[in-house]
Amino acid sequence: MHEWALAEGVVTAALDAAAKQKLVRVTKLVVRVGALQRISPDFFRKALSSVLPEDDPRLESVEFELSAEPAVMGCRGCGHTFEPGQAGDLDADQLEAIHFIPELAHGYLSCPKCESSDFDVRQGRGIWLDAVEGER
Ligand SMILES: [Zn+2]
Repeated sequence: MHEWALAEGVVTAALDAAAKQKLVRVTKLVVRVGALQRISPDFFRKALSSVLPEDDPRLESVEFELSAEPAVMGCRGCGHTFEPGQAGDLDADQLEAIHFIPELAHGYLSCPKCESSDFDVRQGRGIWLDAVEGER
């Protein structure tokens, strides 16, 4: 499952950030999970906990703050931005298809304002490490 690789990536990035900020303890990681990623924040929290290196004292009491970032599409025709839920209901398979091949969204969705199907995925893909908090 690629969740574990993503979780390891977040932890690696957090340790890099902690080293740059010269933190002796990391108290909180703030992570955003894109809606098109199809990983629930609760599940990703568990994945993060399970990939923490046991021998790194900086992470002994780290907490995770996870939030879901909604998917947002931006119309290339009129500039309108919209969430997939406003443009017709998508099922999980369609959302997954859009995540891996964003071009497929054009077959499922059109801009609610001008009905163009020419748009980009602006938000909702990927996982971001927003902040690393800790003590120096
Ligand atoms: Zn439009």
